[in-house]
Amino acid sequence: MQTRLTDHIKDTPHGQEADAILRSCVHCGFCLATCPTYQLLGNELDSPRGRIYLIKQMLEGQETTEKTQLHLDRCLTCRACETTCPSGVQYGHLLDIGRGIAEQQIQRSPYITLKRYALRKLLPNRTFFSALMRVARLVRPLLPAHLKRTILPKPVITRHFTTKVHTRTMLMLEGCVQPSLTPNTNLAATRVLDKLNIQVITAKQAGCCGALAYHLNAQAEGLDAMRRNIDAWWPFVTRSENPVEAIVITASGCGVTVKDYGHLLRHDPVYAEKAARISHLTRDISEVIAAETASLIPLLQVKNSVYESTSPRNLAFHAPCTLQHGMRLKGKIEPILQAAGFNLTKVADPHLCCGSAGTYSILQPKLSHQLRNNKIAALTIENPELVVTANVGCQIHLQGGMQFPVRHWIELLDETLNK
Ligand code: SF4
Ligand code: SF4
Repeated sequence: MQTRLTDHIKDTPHGQEADAILRSCVHCGFCLATCPTYQLLGNELDSPRGRIYLIKQMLEGQETTEKTQLHLDRCLTCRACETTCPSGVQYGHLLDIGRGIAEQQIQRSPYITLKRYALRKLLPNRTFFSALMRVARLVRPLLPAHLKRTILPKPVITRHFTTKVHTRTMLMLEGCVQPSLTPNTNLAATRVLDKLNIQVITAKQAGCCGALAYHLNAQAEGLDAMRRNIDAWWPFVTRSENPVEAIVITASGCGVTVKDYGHLLRHDPVYAEKAARISHLTRDISEVIAAETASLIPLLQVKNSVYESTSPRNLAFHAPCTLQHGMRLKGKIEPILQAAGFNLTKVADPHLCCGSAGTYSILQPKLSHQLRNNKIAALTIENPELVVTANVGCQIHLQGGMQFPVRHWIELLDETLNK
């Protein structure tokens, strides 16, 4: 694609990156077939190719309008277009640049501005969010059914355990909303890793991965959250005795962002090198478990032979976009669940987004609900007993529309290893 970026942008780091991405697009349109918003709305401007054109026009100095911003806002950042694209167009990075420019040029209404501000200030605040969840659990019986389903009762932690000291150690990101919404996920992951002789530690100063603010176009604020996490993790990464071998993350939405720290901070003279090292060390929990298959399988074989009379439970696996398109970790979790004795039911169009997409479900509720309904239909074609996934956002979003449990897959592996 030919480009003519305006003088004031073309020599900036964002301008150069955008120019290279735009030039890699050959305008073939293959990406339209897998774009969820194009499938729903049928408008080229709600497709990857259409949005690429809108961003190109902005960068070439054409007027940015509210309509431009609307089409960019409607994008889920699911990146299904990236895994379809034969030319390797890095659409996600281009979208970040385009959204940042549109945000500077178009003033949002006071109501939307306040809503976006509240989301990026309140959700990453663990103290506030856990207090909010406590209140929500108290008033849960009074809430409408769809809201009730999204507020999971506080789990009774019945299986306390003392983490053994192991030579192998990994840092775990606790995240912002996950400890309040689904506290069992990281506990389950810690127990599974303990069985595999890996000790989990956490850095108290680490918090939200930064994705929330970054994708709400408060990019400087998002980058600050990333720097704070790097500072919190750095002493554990560089300590002379027993440095951590990985940073393990159980929410794929956070994992995809931390893996991108190196790219996002590459022009920061103080943090560029550290950010690249942190990204290099970051693993989704599925990558860690898959790499330990040789130790895991014998443990599972013992459990499966003792419990061979237990009929396998039928479950459907929902692969979050951040896992399959963002981190390109498609097909890692399913064999682990099968080895643990679960029967995976068929899922139609597994590449499509469930509509959660960070704060998208709050900011674009209509499209988000349509996508969730479609996803639930796709997940239940073979009547599974439960749905499992790999990201807290998808888990809570799907739970809001389902009558049966949606859980993190690591909880099932934990229960199998401890039954
Ligand atoms: S598939 Fe890739 S190259 Fe083709 S139009 Fe879409 S982004 Fe451009
Ligand atoms: S990121 Fe998802 S919603 Fe956005 S253009 Fe690509 S496929 Fe469509």
